[in-house]
Amino acid sequence: MAAKREHSKILLIYTGGTIGMVKDYHSGALKAFDFAKVVEGIPELGQLDCAIDSVSFRSPIDSSNMNPGHWVTIASIVEKHYSDYDGFVVLHGSDTMSYTSSALSYMLENLEKPVIFTGSQLPIGDLRTDAKENLITSIQIAALKEEGLPVVREVGLYFENKLYRANRTTKINAEHFEAFASLNYPILAESGVHLKVHKENLWRNRIKKPLKVHKELDDRVAILKLFPGFNRDLLRGVLGISRLRALVLETYGAGNAPTETWLLDDLKKAIDSGLYIVNVTQCSGGSVIMGQYETSRELERMSVINGRDITTEAAITKLMYLLGSKVSVSSFGTIFETSLRGEMT
Ligand code: ASP
Repeated sequence: MAAKREHSKILLIYTGGTIGMVKDYHSGALKAFDFAKVVEGIPELGQLDCAIDSVSFRSPIDSSNMNPGHWVTIASIVEKHYSDYDGFVVLHGSDTMSYTSSALSYMLENLEKPVIFTGSQLPIGDLRTDAKENLITSIQIAALKEEGLPVVREVGLYFENKLYRANRTTKINAEHFEAFASLNYPILAESGVHLKVHKENLWRNRIKKPLKVHKELDDRVAILKLFPGFNRDLLRGVLGISRLRALVLETYGAGNAPTETWLLDDLKKAIDSGLYIVNVTQCSGGSVIMGQYETSRELERMSVINGRDITTEAAITKLMYLLGSKVSVSSFGTIFETSLRGEMT
């Protein structure tokens, strides 16, 4: 689809990440720097036909230091400025970008404007940096309008020529410019000679309602990855965490787990005493199909929640969001298994 760029107002939210980092003189390690440096590094920003304002975290951070408190800060900035801007671009380290952007997709209910996450693998000052293209195109995407309305109306993640639905992404490479993948959902837009938007893949709210920002997140959650040799002590260690309310169980293939009696007994006991367990595959692509193999039938019988083709990032943040929203015990599984923001098929 060839969408037009009308004059738009964009807010850049700078949280940190490699994009704005500089080398520490003594240690040689990269550390977050202030936003003025980022803007200085891209004088081309002045040529874009949209008005750009920016806000920055007081102390920009490496995204390894991100936590739900920071997600609330980002959501609150969007909420505060929602009616003043046509779109938002969040500059964020790539390491935990899929977690933050997945969380934001749930926190910003009824979103009707673009919130585009981006960052880079090399700092803005590096000669071969990927930061310029990522930032400039993210702004252009956030500024796209059609008949006066934003074209993208969801939380997206733009990296190395591709716009993804954020809650479908995973960081798959620590050094390639193409650092993210969305194996279970097609891309929303791609940048080449033309900026091509795949309109059929964009999220559209069925009913238009005012933006509702959810700031209650419950972090009493855990992720447990199965591996051959996984033992009962480890399982008991995790299930014994006091106050644990929900667990993402990363299983093999199409949602399979060993059929050892101790494993099934302990999981069932935990579910019966109120723990929510979600079955998410360790594979980057494809879906959990509970009951397809004998090795997942027991999980299905004991009411393990089916994560289908959700990513671990989108699953753990969805648990935090649903627990924080005080969803009732009787509907928790059904709501989890429902796609709320296009995070599962
Ligand atoms: N460690 C950095 C971060 O996530 C890496 C990056 O920005 O890509 O903040």
